[in-house]
Amino acid sequence: MMKDIATPIRTQEIMAKHGLTVKKSLGQNFLIDPNILRKIVSQANLTKQSAAIEIGPGIGALTEHLARAAGKVLAFEIDQRLLPVLDDTLSPYDNVSIIHSDILKADVADAIAKELEGYEDIMVVANLPYYVTTPIIMKLLLEKLPIRGLVVMLQKEVAERITAKPGTKAYGSLSIAIQYYTEAEMALTVPKGVFMPQPNVDSAVIKMTKRPTPQVEVIDEDFFFKVTRGSFVQRRKTIFNNLQAAMPDGKEKKDLILKALEEAGIDPTRRGETLSIKEFGGLADKLYGYFG
Ligand code: SAM
Repeated sequence: MMKDIATPIRTQEIMAKHGLTVKKSLGQNFLIDPNILRKIVSQANLTKQSAAIEIGPGIGALTEHLARAAGKVLAFEIDQRLLPVLDDTLSPYDNVSIIHSDILKADVADAIAKELEGYEDIMVVANLPYYVTTPIIMKLLLEKLPIRGLVVMLQKEVAERITAKPGTKAYGSLSIAIQYYTEAEMALTVPKGVFMPQPNVDSAVIKMTKRPTPQVEVIDEDFFFKVTRGSFVQRRKTIFNNLQAAMPDGKEKKDLILKALEEAGIDPTRRGETLSIKEFGGLADKLYGYFG
């Protein structure tokens, strides 16, 4: 078997051969530790019947591990300079397709239909560019793609917010947005030394498994998200206070907000961070009756 791309020496060799320098603005922190790659890939439970979608293959460190574990890999890379590098480093693998595109602008459903035909088990596995982790995850969830879930490396602080449970400091509208669609768990915390160059922040890997249906059924999803976001704008204030600012004419219609809270069985003096996703769902539906 070929030597792994993800060793400090091989990474340096590849970069020197192609005259490549890292672009910090694109969040380029390459993995140089095969052990961490094995741990990431094992979290995805891939077989040769699975396909993997990677965002940002870089010079191919994770891509080659995915190519070994899965039947097919589809990767989106924004940086044109990396295409000839990937052509070179991934030449031993015939089951990788690279699409040159900004993942935020890509038609991922179309790419899946064209490139991953016949694959029923599809996982997103990526070491994400840290400047756009949340938009990427939200895009992939909102587009309701035919994926089983996501295993991604990201900033530890964001990982903690995504996986946070009610009643904790990290719990907020991001935790709710993601746990509404997925079961999210912390998988690994990752030391800075496994990257080249090393990022300024700590990293973690999380696993998000898509739920067959969202965690709570609501009348209107957009309205539900408006309520959850609005409930955390001023974290130290009560839910009643926050909702007055978040609902249209909420200051004048305080009585309707109180009524909705009462109907949903929620004490108006509670703070948003104490409400479960189910409680938010019930509350959003009651508020929808008055403000939707
Ligand atoms: N997978 C490689 C690894 O683990 O060594 C590289 C990971 S690096 C943290 C992030 C990668 O995402 C870089 O290759 C970067 O060029 C790419 N990237 C950044 N923004 C992107 C975007 N909007 N769409 C697709 N790729 C992007």
